[in-house]
Amino acid sequence: MTHIHFLGGCKTIGSSAYLIEDDKASVLMDFGVSFGSPTPSFPKLTRPRNLSVALTHAHLDHSGGLPLLFASGSAPVYMTAITRELIRVLLKDFIRISGYYLPFEAFEMRRLFRRIKVVQYDEPVDLGNGITLTFLDAGHIPGSASIQVETDTHCFYYTGDINTIQTQMLNRAQLPEKSPDIVLLESTYALTPHDPRPQIERSFVEAVTETIEGGGSVLVPAFAVARSQEILCILAKHKVECPIFLDGMAREAARIFLRHPSVFRDYPLLRTALKKAIWIRSKRQRTNVMNEACVMVAPAGMLKGGAAAMYLRQILDDVKNAVLLVGFQIPGTPGRNLLENNVFDDGVSLQKVKARVRLFDFSSHAGQDELLGLGRSFSNAQNIFTVHGEPEACESLASTLKEKCGANASAAETGQRIEL
Ligand SMILES: [Zn+2]
Repeated sequence: MTHIHFLGGCKTIGSSAYLIEDDKASVLMDFGVSFGSPTPSFPKLTRPRNLSVALTHAHLDHSGGLPLLFASGSAPVYMTAITRELIRVLLKDFIRISGYYLPFEAFEMRRLFRRIKVVQYDEPVDLGNGITLTFLDAGHIPGSASIQVETDTHCFYYTGDINTIQTQMLNRAQLPEKSPDIVLLESTYALTPHDPRPQIERSFVEAVTETIEGGGSVLVPAFAVARSQEILCILAKHKVECPIFLDGMAREAARIFLRHPSVFRDYPLLRTALKKAIWIRSKRQRTNVMNEACVMVAPAGMLKGGAAAMYLRQILDDVKNAVLLVGFQIPGTPGRNLLENNVFDDGVSLQKVKARVRLFDFSSHAGQDELLGLGRSFSNAQNIFTVHGEPEACESLASTLKEKCGANASAAETGQRIEL
């Protein structure tokens, strides 16, 4: 008998964890963390039979719980080579900022890294017990994968976080050749269409150029992994000529990227963009770098601390300057507050922001139209389960696929265990 057990990541973003079980063995896809307050929470897993683990990508909502599996367990964990390097950086940072209340530490991390097995895209891996695992490029961040699991009875396809549109840095997602029976479809942007990418890039570059020509500086708060480097690629591609700086953990991620040329759509562009950028190396540089007309790209993307928050304090009082946000701003974050109220609240003080503030939707997830297209292409599957999205997004995508395409689609619930 085959089951799918939704351990987390249903009607929410966080704690992604989906377990496929048959009589002989089980495959766990992702094991992430949920950043609720006051402390992070994790999915729960109880004694699966002959467990193998497959990780789609490095983001902590998919990977943040992995060390927990290694307090006593010893399952092999499959992922791409670049994901292995990225999770080392992200998990260490997670331990550092979380402090004492995290249920794992360096010991579990070491055990986890000993059990990692690197896989290549599109090369099936035999897990034994009649199970085969295949990673397909998901186009979301470098090294991200959709996962195909074939058992004796079923073919599963889990999109992971997926982008079906190519970006400057990455190829669009590769789709499975074999029609899956069971599909787990992410739903992050199921209610939100994206503008065409070239259009977003053009207006972003215009906003940068206008500010620089007016003698101002541009701060681009961006996620450390992928978004920061994508922004540098866009600036290089559009030949923006002014000093461009890179700071924070984005530098560490960039160093990792440079070691994995095959992952990128246009590696020469990435290399040029990273070479052209001036990497901040000292505290002294930080204090006066924003005095000249320049672009600064630095995390955190939602201004929750990091180098970006520090630079914002330096430039916020001058109307000549601009803050260009380049990713979704979660309600309650300093970035969202800045966007809606033109203030910067870092939890200590509240400052009025005179610099111009704009948002550009450089998403790394498929938008509403692409998700529907993707779901439609699997409408003959035995089941489509929507996951990884706000409740309305997961429900809406499932009901649209059901009504318009006749698919057997439903929004999965955390805790649900379904016999297939
Ligand atoms: Zn992700």
